Amino acid sequence: MEQVINRVFKRPIAYKKDYNYPFCGGCGHGVVLRLIAEVLEELGVYEKTIATASVGCSINLDKFYNLDIVGADHGRAPCVATGVKRAKPDKIVFTYQGDGDAATIGFNELVHTALRGENITTICVNNTNFGMTGGQASATSILGQITATTRAGRDAKKSGFPIKISEMIAKCDGAAYVARVAIFSPQSIRKAKEAIKKAFEYQIKGLGFSFVEVIAACPTGWKLKPVEALTYIKDEILKVHKLDVFKDVKEGIV
Ligand code: SF4
Repeated sequence: MEQVINRVFKRPIAYKKDYNYPFCGGCGHGVVLRLIAEVLEELGVYEKTIATASVGCSINLDKFYNLDIVGADHGRAPCVATGVKRAKPDKIVFTYQGDGDAATIGFNELVHTALRGENITTICVNNTNFGMTGGQASATSILGQITATTRAGRDAKKSGFPIKISEMIAKCDGAAYVARVAIFSPQSIRKAKEAIKKAFEYQIKGLGFSFVEVIAACPTGWKLKPVEALTYIKDEILKVHKLDVFKDVKEGIV
């Protein structure tokens, strides 16, 4: 009798065949990297994609991806990606960054890249802390959040208010698509994938800078169990960093 195999789950082409999982249990990075890999495959652009990454747990994308990847100094991935895209405009170029990298150390570079309307995509995983270096506060940490540098909780009087990255990037005239999504449930992961796909589609159409902020768990930095971290996203972080599409300029920026 003929055996019919209906394969519903497979390794994305962009993944290396033998990779060592580099993240902590319950970390959101693995999910986001998987979504990007699926999107590149579905859009048929995997072979002409170049990734750039700076510093943070995000740099571990090179453990997964069988793509051309260019490293950058801390926070400078958008500048490097700008150079790559201008030199090779036929390539699909994206930066993969955390909030410590994109919104804290490298926010200046991110803003100016958005203002210039560079036709690249930035995927920013916002876990509201510097995960790689031990869970210090970042610019996006919410008020009251306990981190290695805000032991009594972030206090606006001492550390100011959290940056709302997507709201600020959406104000830049060169940004064509800006959305904040989160990964804490199957439904939210599906929505995150739709936003990531749209961001790459806008780049393929040459519409301008596209930016997706993904709220994701960092159980190690937050000192929470993986399931508790998902609840923390839902009950605390999303009250401050609200999910929305902040900009969608379908006809492009110019
Ligand atoms: S420190 Fe946080 S962001 Fe880094 S791998 Fe661990 S859980 Fe993920």
